[in-house]
Formats: sequence, C-alpha cells, structure tokens
Amino acid sequence: MTLIVDSHDSSHNKTGEFPCVSCHTDCCKEYVIFVNAHDVYRLSKGLQMAPEKFLEIYGAKDYSLGINLEEGLIDLALKQKNGGCQFLEETKDVFRCTVNDFKPGVCKSYPFAMKNGKLIQMDKIMCPVDWDLAEFEKMMVTHLKKDEFEWKFYDELVKEWNAKHGEKKSLSEFLKFMLDKVESSLFS
Ligand code: SF4
Ligand code: SF4
Repeated sequence: MTLIVDSHDSSHNKTGEFPCVSCHTDCCKEYVIFVNAHDVYRLSKGLQMAPEKFLEIYGAKDYSLGINLEEGLIDLALKQKNGGCQFLEETKDVFRCTVNDFKPGVCKSYPFAMKNGKLIQMDKIMCPVDWDLAEFEKMMVTHLKKDEFEWKFYDELVKEWNAKHGEKKSLSEFLKFMLDKVESSLFS
C-alpha cells in the first residue's frame, strides 16, 4: 500500500527521500482533521460546495437546532468515510488526497507545527521515518507561519461569535459569519 498525500512538496527525510512516498502509515485515516475558517473557505471555493456538506462540528451540540456551545468552542473537522478522511481515495492500493490543491493547513504541516514562532514536531507522529527538520522548515516556513496566523484568526472569530451571539444560532449562520470574515480579510 502506498499513500500519496503529497503533503510537503519536496521536503525530504534524512536519507534524501520524500517520506510520504514510501509511507505505509495512514495519517489520513488515523486523525480527525480539524480545520479553521480559511481552510473551510478554500475547500468551499475549490469544491464549489457548501461547508455543511463536508464538515463535522465538535465542541457544540444539537447544532441542527442551533449551536449550543460547549465550553465556548466551535471546532470544525472534516467528515470521515470508511474510517478515514472523506477526501482520501484509494485506487489499486494507492491512496490519494483528492483535494491536494486546497487541502487543510494541518495536512500540509503534519507532522510539524509552529508554536510561538518556533517549529516543533508533534508528539507520537505516525511517520515511519525521521524528517529532516531543517529542510522541512526551509521548505515550509511560509506556510507554517500562515497556518499559525489562520488558527489565531479562527480563535478570535469564535470569541467574537460567542460574545455577539452565544448559543442558539443556526450552524449556517455561524458558517456564513465565518466565511464573510475570511472574505473581508482577504479583500481588505
Ligand atoms: S504519516 Fe507522515 S510520512 Fe506518512 S503520509 Fe503521513 S505525513 Fe507522510
Ligand atoms: S484532506 Fe487530504 S491530506 Fe488531509 S486528511 Fe484528507 S486526504 Fe489526507
């Protein structure tokens, strides 16, 4: 089985090989993929699909009746199918990301993240090989900083929503609010 996620373009491991090419580990199956407002915006545009079609909502309950917040959070994640990400497709034992051009930021960053401006490797990663951290940072630093910014943007946006609307607003109202925020930030 080969997993083609093409997550990190030409970043290499310490032996000079691109780790995802020979990977037999399904990071796209193991994780719930959390997304932020910018991810949802890009996926919606790229797929020409309403967010409701591909999103699960965590940290909120009864959202078909309106959003009831739990601990003030609204976490959005990609829906799953067959025990993996819904955008993972298998053909003849080869797995492929069908949204590669606009895949979520976490998929591009994995198994790294920026924390307070510093590149860190996540705990307990699934990659069967060691990544070359310096090489990864060189290739991905622009993306990683942008990703960090987008998560902060999402946190602020959720805080603003909670302060203004709190509970009992519909999911589609929240998603519209969120996408409008992204759009106005992109074109301001
Ligand atoms: S587990 Fe790591 S090496 Fe394997 S496909 Fe995912 S990111 Fe690539
Ligand atoms: S969006 Fe693509 S890269 Fe991310 S988990 Fe799904 S299939 Fe994997």
